[in-house]
Amino acid sequence: MKLLLKIIFVFLLLGSATTSFAQLTIVSSSQYDSIVKASPKLQLVSLKSNFIQQNIKYATSDNFTHEIVYDTAAIFLSLDAHTALLKVIDFLKPYNVGLIIYDAYRPYRYTVKFWDLIHDDRYVADPQKGSRHNRGCAVDVGLYDLKTGKSLDMPTAYDDFSEKAAANSKDRTKLQSKNVELLQQAMTCNGFQLFATEWWHFDYSGYQQYPIYDISFQELSK
Ligand SMILES: [Zn+2]
Repeated sequence: MKLLLKIIFVFLLLGSATTSFAQLTIVSSSQYDSIVKASPKLQLVSLKSNFIQQNIKYATSDNFTHEIVYDTAAIFLSLDAHTALLKVIDFLKPYNVGLIIYDAYRPYRYTVKFWDLIHDDRYVADPQKGSRHNRGCAVDVGLYDLKTGKSLDMPTAYDDFSEKAAANSKDRTKLQSKNVELLQQAMTCNGFQLFATEWWHFDYSGYQQYPIYDISFQELSK
């Protein structure tokens, strides 16, 4: 696959500038520290909470590729998306509901891999555009009962590439509708946007302010 990957340090100014670069800007591990030093807002933050279940499917073979993709199971988000997701977690507590996290920040290298497997931009991002997961600004989430630890009933399994998985599908039971609506309300009230083809995927509204990162989980965890 031919990709034109251009690294532009001018991206440091992106907090106030537009992001209308013709070519994709990819931040590698060697640039990360200096970029975060210049603009602390651009850091990727590890999510820790007693009210989440970490279930990173791509760190297991229980995903559409049927192989282990990520070498580490970790949840990182851009600073603003992280703050917003903590608000979602607080929003859900009175309902006795917690968040299952299936995926969050995804190093760019895996977006390239997924595109090689599924050439369909309804379900995986075109590497020439990058994914909002690569920006630390997308999360794949479900809900669980805080008392029992059991998952709430949702319309489909995670990464079910069918029309039934659409955010606004009517093909679901009353209970599934109620659960999806609670998830959508919690997310959209706290800065996230729906994604049309996947009930589990949400984008942080300010994703345009963040670059594409290609930094491994192990490097981020150091
Ligand atoms: Zn997603």
